[in-house]
Amino acid sequence: MSATVLIVEDEKSISTLLKYNLEKEGYTIIISQNGEDGIEQVKKNLPDLVILDWMLPDLSGIAVCDLIKREPRLKSIPVIMLTAKSEETDKIRGFETGADDYVTKPFSTKELVLRVQALLKRAKPSLIEDIVVFKDLKIDRLSRRVYRGDNQIKLGPTEYNLLNFFIKNPSRVYSREQLLNQVWGNAIYVETRTVDVHIRRLRKAINLEGKVDLIRTVRSAGYALDVQ
Ligand code: CA
Repeated sequence: MSATVLIVEDEKSISTLLKYNLEKEGYTIIISQNGEDGIEQVKKNLPDLVILDWMLPDLSGIAVCDLIKREPRLKSIPVIMLTAKSEETDKIRGFETGADDYVTKPFSTKELVLRVQALLKRAKPSLIEDIVVFKDLKIDRLSRRVYRGDNQIKLGPTEYNLLNFFIKNPSRVYSREQLLNQVWGNAIYVETRTVDVHIRRLRKAINLEGKVDLIRTVRSAGYALDVQ
């Protein structure tokens, strides 16, 4: 499971517990402690799912959810809202703002992890399936093998990670900075032009003779897994 989950929650005991349990399942976790920063993190990291607390010190969870769901680039990101027990009406308003699911506090972490899994599976099967396909390109995640049509393709680890990341959201354009954050993680000494080098290698490897180019370069924006 290579999904990134953003937790927006000011109660450290809760975010730490969630982080621990979700990391155990293989998720990458980003934590934010208030609404403003939460929105920043969504824009910067484009997480695969957001766990959003209802009561935050600055903006309300609804306002944050509303902002995510209004922005075309972000609105497909599933949001799970955490609400307090008595907030039955809030629950309904949560749905009106477009939250995809809600969990009432106090909750069982096990249940929340299952909800995360279910929501990701529904929203983006390409995130968690063992075999993912884009056009005539296929990744078998269990064996880490890549095929274009019937031909197996050999990729270096970085090119594999890049492709495995792109295929989660085909056609979505990622900037070099976003790719660095997502694929290289916290490698702060890597320069953005390194991305270009690995994109070039990836392109060369997957674009077999006679096949269409599956990497789209978007001038001054970045790259996408897409046909030109
Ligand atoms: Ca709170």
